[in-house]
Order: sequence, then C-alpha cells, then structure tokens
Amino acid sequence: MPLAASEGAKVLYRAEVQDEAKFEFTIPETGDYHLVLDNRAGTSIRSVHVSASVTEIMAGENSAPDTAKPGTVPYAIASLKAKLRLAFIFDELQIDVGACGHANAYSGPKRVLICVEHIARLKDELGETQKVRDALLFTLLHEIGHVMLRQWSYPFYDNEEVADEIATAIMVMFNEAAAVRTQAAYFAEIPSQSEADKKLVIDDRHPLSVQRARNILRWLDDPDFLKKWQTVLVPHMQTTLLETLARKPQPWSSLELVEQELVRRN
Ligand SMILES: [Zn+2]
Repeated sequence: MPLAASEGAKVLYRAEVQDEAKFEFTIPETGDYHLVLDNRAGTSIRSVHVSASVTEIMAGENSAPDTAKPGTVPYAIASLKAKLRLAFIFDELQIDVGACGHANAYSGPKRVLICVEHIARLKDELGETQKVRDALLFTLLHEIGHVMLRQWSYPFYDNEEVADEIATAIMVMFNEAAAVRTQAAYFAEIPSQSEADKKLVIDDRHPLSVQRARNILRWLDDPDFLKKWQTVLVPHMQTTLLETLARKPQPWSSLELVEQELVRRN
C-alpha cells in the first residue's frame, strides 16, 4: 500500500539521523509499516545501512509500555519486560500483580506474581520516592531471574542467593547499580532478630536481609562477579546486543565471550 500523508499516515517514530542511530518502538497493531528515509534537503548521495529486529511480545503477556502510564507499576513492569526481551532470549513470561494476603513475591516456570501487599510495604517503609521503584525493580529481577534461569536449564535456578546474584548482574548491565545500592540499604535496615523469629514460623529460604545486603554490596564491587555472570548470560543474549557489545565493550562485558558466541551463531 503506498504511503501518502493525505491518507493520514501516522508516524510512529521520527528522528534526524547522523552517522549512526538506534531506536525502538512498539507497533500498536498488525499491519504494514514503512521506513521512510528522507534526504531531500541533502546535496550529496548517501549510502545507508538499515537493520531491523523484531521482538515479539507474546499473546497474554503484559501490555506494551505505551499503553500504561509512566510512573505506575504496570508501566515499570512492561518497560522492564520490553528491555529484557531486547537483551535476552527467553520463553513466555507473565508478570502479575495481585493480592496475596501478605507481602511477598513468587515465581513459577513462566510466571511471576508480585503481591500488592509487597508494593504497599515498600511504599510504607521507603516513602513515595524513587526508592520504591528501585526496590521493586530488584524484586522483579530476583523473581524473573528464577524464571529465566529455569527456562535456561540452569541447575541452581531455585537458589535464593543465585536469584539475588542474577538480579544484581542484570541491573548493573542495565545501568541500575544505584538502584541495587538502594535495595542493599533497604535490606540492611530490616532488623535481623524479628526476621529470624519469623523465619522459624514460615518456611523462608532467603538468607537474612542483612546478609543479602552485605552480599549485594560485595558483588557490586567485584569485577570477577560480573564476569562470572557473563558466562551464564552471553549464550542467551539477543544477537543484536552481542553485536553492539562486540563494537562497544562495556566495563561488565567480556569481549572474548561475546566474540566466541557470535562465531558460534554464524
Ligand atoms: Zn526467590
């Protein structure tokens, strides 16, 4: 179908491009979409290389970020999932927020449940601040970590410390180290005695929060920790991310692992 402004063509994304540009957006519905390169204002011939990759959001999954309001929990969840899909290859993942009767979060083979009581407690204890968003992000990645590791057949997917590790490693990758520190500070403030008493009553396999705080701070300052997690994460990274990391290595990335993986895929 020819694209004409008179037909009321809607623009999903528009940008001036120089040298190199990268952008992502969510397609709102099934249909034909066109990429228009406009160099009419230019005087010289340009050669352009374009590559596109499609990340399918499976039916039944959370709605795209642009249908939720920024600053809300559904928005935070949808944005995180979109970001994870761009970075990693994994199967179906449903994230729900619901009433549980107590403050907690759970994960299954392809589902994460965040209890509304957990979010209410974060708001209660951290105030209506950015810290709530940071701590919620950590909770989400801890639970999603269980799910992804299970889908990737990682033997210790069920281990609570391992889930804290992958949450920390992914948050560093996503430039969220400051949010990890918020979570560590929050863990450090939970009094150990009352927590230990509670653990005797309910079966809770998480280490004490003060211990989790110490672990997280240690991992953040340990370059070997981040390198170690790259061996788990690189085989499940999207090829576009691997290509980006090959071109622009990051402090946490391993160029050797990235290049090996790219060779293996080709
Ligand atoms: Zn867990």
